[in-house]
Amino acid sequence: VTTRLNVAPVPPDEIFALNHAFGIDTHPQKVSLGVGVYRTDDGKPWPLPVVQKAEKELEAASDAFRHEYTAIEGDAPFLPMARDLMFGFEGKPSEEEAKARIATVQTVAGTGANHLGALFLAHHMKPRTVWLSNPSWANHMTIWELAGIPRKTYPYYHASTRAFDFDGMMSSLENDAEEGDVVLLHACAHNPTGLDPNKEQWIAIAELCERKKLFPFFDSAYQGFASGSVEEDAWAVRYFFTAKPDMEMCVAQSFSKNFGLYGDRVGAFHYVTNRASSSLRDVVVNNLCHLIRGEFSMGPRAGTAIVKKVLSDEALVKEWHADLKVMSSRIRSMREALYAELVRLQTPGTWEHIVQQNGMFSYTGLTLKQVYALKDQYHIYLLKSGRASISGLSKKNVAYVAQAIDDVVR
Ligand code: PMP
Repeated sequence: VTTRLNVAPVPPDEIFALNHAFGIDTHPQKVSLGVGVYRTDDGKPWPLPVVQKAEKELEAASDAFRHEYTAIEGDAPFLPMARDLMFGFEGKPSEEEAKARIATVQTVAGTGANHLGALFLAHHMKPRTVWLSNPSWANHMTIWELAGIPRKTYPYYHASTRAFDFDGMMSSLENDAEEGDVVLLHACAHNPTGLDPNKEQWIAIAELCERKKLFPFFDSAYQGFASGSVEEDAWAVRYFFTAKPDMEMCVAQSFSKNFGLYGDRVGAFHYVTNRASSSLRDVVVNNLCHLIRGEFSMGPRAGTAIVKKVLSDEALVKEWHADLKVMSSRIRSMREALYAELVRLQTPGTWEHIVQQNGMFSYTGLTLKQVYALKDQYHIYLLKSGRASISGLSKKNVAYVAQAIDDVVR
């Protein structure tokens, strides 16, 4: 039989392939440092206690409407809550004008928000180029490729110093980017490097975007998860929004990590206009709805029900903030433990970057050969780039991992 298809194999997604390989590995000391999911010190998933509480309350309420369709733009009360969390409007009814600048719709988590935003810009702005950091989350390449927008990269990582290459980024955007180009920025906890601009640098990036008329597209996948503070992790987005009201921008917002709702696919996309005009905002929402309708009709509602329950109750919000602290502090303490072990072993090289980086990942600086050796000899799984998901470390395995790293770098 012949097929009418014209298909050639595409490489499997590295993270999911690695996860599979880990799953079938029977070695008792295997360690997964691949996929970016939170794990407890026992290596188990951690449904957030506040999420479990909200779920119980939702079940008890047995709302007959809870499996019904929502609106195309998503669950109506969820949308302003997501927006207020991102832009810092919680409890500020006085900000009506600022709110009128933001068109919000519900998406299929952060991936869907990135995708919808790319598609929307491809249809309605037709940017010549999108600038992605080098390196970036691999899916950014795929998403913008599927949207048909040519991709270029700006330097982000300085391999020899294992630091953020701010000067490289700025000069590349200054010299090579053109008016109307999209610049993709990670709102916090840059994936994969764990290196974020400081506030001064964010201010300079905003100024550059404004002066060169570049279009910022923020990807916010770790709000509250990175530092433990939802304000701190939203600083850059909120700064661009308030300090540069003449600038338009997009924000893709994920609730996967900060609520531990990975498979529930909770997210939102925000298009920020440069004037407080509810009619412009409404026509943006209306066009986003057109794209949503043709693709998935509306975002899923089980996860948003949980997020709504939490964000609409002051006591639950407090508990959520405490849960965020639990996750971010465990990750921080594992960074410190790994660093301390490597120092104790006098492992060749410098390792301070492990404690200096933010969020879920450490860009270890390990080479491809060393990454393969960790997998083949020690059953420790990390990405080929040397990115390690710190949440896979625990008090029990950190010495084993450090010893293995020590061995492969010598
Ligand atoms: N952007 C970045 C940079 C990410 O790391 C992630 C999560 N891996 C996402 C977006 C989106 O994740 P999700 O679709 O699960 O919300």
